[in-house]
Amino acid sequence: MVFFRSHRIALCKDCIKTFVERRVERTIRSYKLMSKGERILVAVSGGKDSLVLWQILTNLGYEADGMFIDLGIPEFSEVSWEKCEKIAQKLSRKLFKVKLEDYFGTNLINIAKIERREPCAFCGMVKRYIMNQRAISEGYQVVATGHHLDDETSVLLGNVLNWQVDYLRRQGPNLEESDGFVRKVKPLALCSEDEIKSYAEASEIDHVEGSCPLSKGATSHFYKSIINQIEERMPGTKLRFYKEFLKAKKEIFMENKSVKLMPCSRCGYPTTAGICAFCRLIDRVKTRIQLFQERTQFGEEP
Ligand code: SF4
Ligand code: ZN
Repeated sequence: MVFFRSHRIALCKDCIKTFVERRVERTIRSYKLMSKGERILVAVSGGKDSLVLWQILTNLGYEADGMFIDLGIPEFSEVSWEKCEKIAQKLSRKLFKVKLEDYFGTNLINIAKIERREPCAFCGMVKRYIMNQRAISEGYQVVATGHHLDDETSVLLGNVLNWQVDYLRRQGPNLEESDGFVRKVKPLALCSEDEIKSYAEASEIDHVEGSCPLSKGATSHFYKSIINQIEERMPGTKLRFYKEFLKAKKEIFMENKSVKLMPCSRCGYPTTAGICAFCRLIDRVKTRIQLFQERTQFGEEP
């Protein structure tokens, strides 16, 4: 038996599965995330959240395939890929794999060194770009990610604390398609991390334990712990914070002054600058690699 404090309900193994699946189904319906005939691409990482999402969408009868982005993190990326392959077989769905190295000529860790930035500072942008590009080229209408209530509320807290108005405007479980972008949805947005963990256990989903080894010290972890402390004192706050924000958002941003996007002059991806952030990153990484190769060729110290 597991007790979910925010819903004041105790559930057995079988009921947990039904409970979570129903919540996801209701989220999909309420926020018009997707419909049964659409082709959906799930961003899978090998962690519990994305694998739970893939299984739930399949159980609910959606046409959902998986896409794994290999970041080239030693050991971690290989193990993560194996977990994704395993569930793809179980669900009998197609699974794609894309390597970061095919774009940049090197892995995430080296890009971070070249950029002199933390990997998380640009990893999200890179993954969003690749997911969007592959979804379009493979004919998918929707990209689904495993972001859950804890992710969403910690991002919301950060956006409010820093008054990131543009991020707040776009935050939500459904980011509609527009020129150059497929629709991006978060069907687990109203399920807490605990609920997803219980679902993964009840369904015996084999997943990578713990988070990405490069995530240490991320600010999102701090925001999550704050939100969880509030939830501990006042169960139900997390869900209320997020749902009420989604309701209020409609009124606050009614004027809909969204940023003007234009296609990247290099790859066509929508951007506010002439060349998009992804193409600029590729340029920087490749120039540094070339410089490094020239120096070592002439016997200089790199
Ligand atoms: Fe990327 Fe950071 Fe997430 Fe690791 S923790 S996958 S580096 S965003
Ligand atoms: Zn570009």
